[in-house]
Order: sequence, then C-alpha cells, then structure tokens
Amino acid sequence: MIYLNGEFMPIEKAVIPVLDRGFIFGDGVYEVIPVYARRPFRLGGHLARLQASLDSIRLKNPHHDSQWQKLIERLIELNESDDQSLYLQVTRGVAKRDHAFPETVTPTVFIMSNPLMPATADQIENGVGAITAPDNRWLRCDVKSTALLPNVLLRQLAADAGCAETLLLRDGMLTEGSASNAFVVSEGVVLAPPKSNLMLPGITYDVVLELAQANDVPLEVRNVSESELRGGEEIWITSSSKEVLPVTTLDGKAVGKGRPGPAFRRMHGLFQDHKAQLRRTANG
Ligand code: PMP
Repeated sequence: MIYLNGEFMPIEKAVIPVLDRGFIFGDGVYEVIPVYARRPFRLGGHLARLQASLDSIRLKNPHHDSQWQKLIERLIELNESDDQSLYLQVTRGVAKRDHAFPETVTPTVFIMSNPLMPATADQIENGVGAITAPDNRWLRCDVKSTALLPNVLLRQLAADAGCAETLLLRDGMLTEGSASNAFVVSEGVVLAPPKSNLMLPGITYDVVLELAQANDVPLEVRNVSESELRGGEEIWITSSSKEVLPVTTLDGKAVGKGRPGPAFRRMHGLFQDHKAQLRRTANG
C-alpha cells in the first residue's frame, strides 16, 4: 500500500500526470526512512532534513510534522513487514512545462513502503568493494533532490566494476559515496568529512558520530584527503538502508588488511545495541 495525494491505495493503482514537475524536471525532494519493529527510526531527523531540502528548493512544506507522522504511522500499519523502508517524495506538482515555478500549484506527495533490505551477513563479515571517481555533481549535494542522474551514473560505475559503491573525490578530498556517507579510519581515529554543501547530511552519519562520541571512540570531523582515503586502515559507508558497512577493497586494492577491521566491528556492535534498545522500547 502506498500514499498518494490524500489517499492510501495499492501501488498498482497509483498514477501521476505526465506533466508532474518531478517527472519533467526532477523538481522535487525525497527521504528514505528505515522502520524497525514498526517504528520509524529518527523520524524527527528525517522530517527536519526534508524541511531543509524543501526550503532549499523554495517549496512550501505541504504538511506539519504531526501530519507527516500520522501519514507515516498509517502507512506502516497498512504494510506487512515489521521492518520497512519508507520512501517519501514531494514534487512541485503538475503544471504546463516551463522552467520557472508555476504561480499556483499543489505539490505531489507520495509515500511508499518496501520491506527493509538490510546488509547481508556476507557484506558485514567480508565487506564490500568500492571504486573512486571524481565528484562531478552540482554544488548543492546537501539537498536531497530527486534529480539523481549524476548519482545514478556514478553508482553504475561501481556496478560495472562489480562493486557496491563509488566513493567521490572533489579537489583532492573525499566527499561521500554515490548513495552513502563515507568514513575512514586512520591510525585508530575515525575521520568523518564535515557537513557542507558538498555532501548529504546523512541521518546514519549522525548516528555514527553520536555513538562514537558516547563511547569514547577516537573521532575527528575534518576534511579527508585522497591519500588518507587510500592509506586508511578501514573505510566505512553508511546509509539508512545499509546502516554501517565495511569497504574492504578500493579500486581493486585491499583496504588495510583487506578484512573488516576492529573499529568497524566496534561500531557495528554499537549500532546493533542501539537498535536493540529501540526494539525493546517498541515492544515494552
Ligand atoms: N549521501 C547520499 C548521496 C545518499 O543518497 C544517502 C542516502 N542514500 C546518504 C548519503 C546517506 O544518508 P542517510 O544516512 O540519511 O540514509
């Protein structure tokens, strides 16, 4: 079941007009929210980032947070899995094709749910491969825009190479992955590129920073150079669907010892404990 413009319906019934500006221009923003034990994870963070994206593209938020929460809770109820992945999209709506904003238009609001597909045991035990590429995206990578063609092309480079992710370099610095944030462990310190217009402020990135700080994991939020990326003992990628994953090959070469490292294992454990606590609150 999905939600589209005021109605819940099976996805097969959902249609949007061809003049929707999301379809014509990619003129919209989105969120992906994981749901554990039927509870949306960090909903407040996702709704705050949605508001920031909407503000950046000068689109009025069609709903207050309490309305979003009700819609999301209802959609979770209407779908089967306890663990879900919600995809929420707002576009500037349907209007005659013209680049400038239409004067009056109602935004299109779409929310769908899929079963959450977490990382596999193999990915956690053995890590995943990544490649690097120049970050050729625009200068507003902090906006979670549905216009993802650059990210699509960059991710396809990884797929072509049989890898899971493409890590992006701009002016000699690591920005993020095509669909994830990236961390490097160097001499036992977790290095996190700072939030800026050059990366998406990941909700999972925030969780990792919080868990590191709360558990005295050595951490530095600062620019990470290409040589630090290539020389790091460990590389991690994070996203709402995959949580934290170890990258064990980069451009075909082993990262550190070529196995998920001790800092990853620690962070993975902290993340699982954090989720288990939330599940207990949900059940109790
Ligand atoms: N960067 C990019 C480019 C992304 O698309 C994503 C989400 N898939 C992330 C980072 C991670 O963000 P989050 O942890 O909020 O899923």
